[in-house]
Parts: sequence; C-alpha cells; structure tokens
Amino acid sequence: MYEMERVPEGSTFPRELEEIATTKPIYKGKSPYKKKKVQDKIQTDNVAHYDLSPLFRPFGVHHPSLRHVWFVKDICGVVCAIFTWLLILYAEYVVMFVMLVHESSNIYSLLHGVVFNILSFLAVASHLRAMFTDPGAVPKGNATSEGIKSLGLKKGEVVFKCPKCISIKPDRAHHCSVCQRCIRKMDHHCPWVNNCVGESNQKYFVLFTMYICLISIHSLYMAVAHFIHCVAKDWKGESSGCSGMSPPATTIFLIFLIFEGMLFGIFTGIMFGTQMAAVCSDETGIEQLKKEQRERQSRWLSMKAVFGHPFSIHWFSPFSTPKFLRAEKYYSV
Ligand SMILES: [Zn+2]
Ligand SMILES: [Zn+2]
Repeated sequence: MYEMERVPEGSTFPRELEEIATTKPIYKGKSPYKKKKVQDKIQTDNVAHYDLSPLFRPFGVHHPSLRHVWFVKDICGVVCAIFTWLLILYAEYVVMFVMLVHESSNIYSLLHGVVFNILSFLAVASHLRAMFTDPGAVPKGNATSEGIKSLGLKKGEVVFKCPKCISIKPDRAHHCSVCQRCIRKMDHHCPWVNNCVGESNQKYFVLFTMYICLISIHSLYMAVAHFIHCVAKDWKGESSGCSGMSPPATTIFLIFLIFEGMLFGIFTGIMFGTQMAAVCSDETGIEQLKKEQRERQSRWLSMKAVFGHPFSIHWFSPFSTPKFLRAEKYYSV
C-alpha cells in the first residue's frame, strides 16, 4: 500500500508537475482514437519477464532472482552487453594463456590467476544481475479510476500520473523511454548493462563498475610486468619459453590488453566514483541534472538503502539481494 506524505502549508512543490491524476478515468470523455492510443501505449512492451527456475532446478541451483528475470528488448543494449562479455573474455584469454601459463614462477601464476579469476567472476555475476534484475519498475497503466480509488486518498490529496506509461508515479520515479515505463529512483539507462539503473539494481551496477575497474588495474599491472620481465628479453633472445607465442604476437596481444585496461579502468573508475557520490548524497543522476530540491537521508542510511542492512560482506556480493525501504511517497496539498 502506498504511503502518503503531507506537505506543510505554504510550501511549494519542489519539482515540476507532469500531470496530476484525478479520480476520473484517464480517457473518459476523450475520443475513441485517443482511447486507442492510450491503450496501445500500455500494451506495447519493451520488456520481457521470464521464470528460469525450472531450467536450473536439475542442477540444484535455487535463487529467487531466477523466478523473476527481467530483460529489456533493446538491440543496442544487447550488442553492448555482449561486447562487454567479449572484452572480459579477451582479457581472460590474454592473462591466462598468453601470460600466466608460461610464467616460470608457479606461485606468481597461481596467486595472480586466482585473484584475477575471482574478480572476473564477480564482475560477470554483477553484470548479469544488473542486467536481469527489475530496476524498480512501476506497473504500467495502473493510473485508472479504480487504481487511484484503491489508494484510498483523502480529500485534497493528489497523486502524480505519468502521461507516457499511464502509471501512478511514486516520488523519485522517472520515465525511461527505452524500458517504456517509470522506474523508481532511476539514475540512468545504461546500454552496457542493457537496463535502467534504479532502486532495485543499483547495488549490482556499482559492484560491476568496481570489479571491472579492479580487473583493469590488475591486468594492467600483469601486462606491464610481463613486458618488462619477458617480452623485452624474448626480443633480445635472452630467454625462451617466457611467453606462449612469438614476441610480435605477444606484443600485439599485450598492447590491446593495456589499451583495454586503461580505457575501461578510467571509464569504470569515474563511473564508480560518481555512483558512490550519488549514493552518499542520496541523489540520483536525474535529480542532479534537474537540480531537484528534497530532504536527504544521512550518508550511512543512503548507503544501507542501496547495499542492504546491516553492513556485512554481503555488500560486496552480487548474489545477495539487499533488503531496502521503498520510497513510495506522494505529495499532498
Ligand atoms: Zn512512465
Ligand atoms: Zn531504462
């Protein structure tokens, strides 16, 4: 059930009103053409929902997220997400089969191999959860007279209606044109994870940027160390068998890895920093752009609202679903 919040007398609305829903049906009294247009808007859906739990049950895998798999049908986002997996696969191949397998020190290979694989696994897991988790979508087309009546509003209280997806719009929700619905605490739509970053999946997105930044730094360190200790000697003919390939082939592989590591290390590092700043200041990317004024939670409470309560190792795990309080408030006059 939705909570109502009373705005003190004399206060002004902190944001522009998009549309105010009344207790009248949305398209009552409008032409049949308008009614059809509204119904088409609700029926066209850019998001698919799947229940994948029966597929994983024979393997003994049970996770609540498998019951509600959310997938945005956006070809640009799907291409970007596959490209992300290919880039991680390329880094994995170069680190494991061009560098570490041929290292003379077994301890060095084992240590770096284990750390790199754990971080890569967590990066991919965070990416999958950010991509296939409902970011906090508001049901489409629920701003009907019945839907509004069911809120049990008192006289004088109003709710916001999104004119694009005809939904009752909670506080801090914004409409996403790619997902074609309103998303709670929407930060932005990210094509790299083919999903919106919102209330329910921001944790996975932050973890994804953090783990990609870490594997970028780690692979950069290994590539530079391999260049200095192996490739330079291989070119001079001083050592043999340090790299699995000829010096020119190893050099090309390492140059691409260094380029990839620098590019994505900087990109995800900046993204991680801005996301953490947004979480700490309890302000989404859209609210920053729109300069919306509202009451803020403390830094610690905002962190717990995104990563879960209380602080534990689960904050760093893409497999644990955080328990958070939903910001479902309406303004009243
Ligand atoms: Zn909407
Ligand atoms: Zn979206």
